[in-house]
Amino acid sequence: MTRADFVWYIIIAFVVWGIIQGKREAKRNEKKRLEEEQQERERLQRVQEMRKNYVSEKQREREIQERQGKSRQQFYNEEYLRSDAWQRKRYVVLKRDNWTCVDCGAKAVEVHHKRYSKERIGKEPIDWLVSVCNACHERRHGHRTSRTR
Ligand SMILES: [Zn+2]
Ligand SMILES: [Zn+2]
Repeated sequence: MTRADFVWYIIIAFVVWGIIQGKREAKRNEKKRLEEEQQERERLQRVQEMRKNYVSEKQREREIQERQGKSRQQFYNEEYLRSDAWQRKRYVVLKRDNWTCVDCGAKAVEVHHKRYSKERIGKEPIDWLVSVCNACHERRHGHRTSRTR
């Protein structure tokens, strides 16, 4: 091997080494870029997830508030039972039962809901309603304050 050959060897070796290093570097950069993209995607996904959870959380809260704010029972007690429609229906039921308590035969002064209309508030058939005296009404409600009057 001549001296010139040796120098060329060294030069070629450097060039080849340089090319290999360059490729490695490029590969590393590519890998890093892909990882960063993946991380960014995951971050966005988390943000979206959080936003979705936040929205459904809000929705749930609203539903709970609505349920608490005005339950069907509350609507019956606070609005329907004070309405003219109820007064008319109450009269029809009392008249049907001849103002007599269906439980004990005493004078009926109240009307009891045997059941409540689930879908159509205030649209219960009068078959679901019975005339009762105060004592029997409280008994039907298990001695709690009678709700329906
Ligand atoms: Zn009742
Ligand atoms: Zn009675």
